[in-house]
Amino acid sequence: MTQPIFMVGARGAGKTTVGNALARALGYQFTDTDVFMQQTTGLSVADVVAREGWVGFRRRESDALKAVTAPHTVVATGGGAVLAAENRAFMRDAGRVIYLRAPATTLAHRLEEYPLDAQRPTLTGKPINEEMVEVLAAREALYQEVAHHVLDATASPAEIVAAIQRVLQTEPI
Ligand code: ADP
Ligand code: MG
Repeated sequence: MTQPIFMVGARGAGKTTVGNALARALGYQFTDTDVFMQQTTGLSVADVVAREGWVGFRRRESDALKAVTAPHTVVATGGGAVLAAENRAFMRDAGRVIYLRAPATTLAHRLEEYPLDAQRPTLTGKPINEEMVEVLAAREALYQEVAHHVLDATASPAEIVAAIQRVLQTEPI
């Protein structure tokens, strides 16, 4: 298999952590659309949102997604990349899409425990658990729709990588 692999899921689901480990296991490149945008613009996600709003950020994110997509590459996407139908269609056509699925409590716990890994401003300014419940309610159907494979993201990173390697041997859904 040479196709790009896209990691989707909410903030804290492990797209960066698991995506990196998966790339190492497969001998693939790893790339993170947020990091790519930071490197190419010199601005953090928070800076872009402050200057251009979420609309500007989403436009840049769609461009970044296309720019980083290549064979033998694991792409960690931003949590909201699935909001754009264009991005969902692009990912489904270009490669295999993995949804890292975890309950809001797990996501909130991880984001509280490791706030520096969160990188993004909160979307609503609400308490993190409430925000994650709302984010999942709004996006769960989109994550499910775009995913070729849905994985339990509450397992350890090593277990998730092994599970992804198993599903990649099967036909996409
Ligand atoms: P994302 O890129 O999806 O926002 P990260 O990979 O940055 O998520 O993970 C968020 C935090 O949760 C990090 O501190 C990471 O170490 C931790 N984490 C990620 N995946 C797991 C996991 N499967 N089990 C335990 N902790 C995890
Ligand atoms: Mg990440």
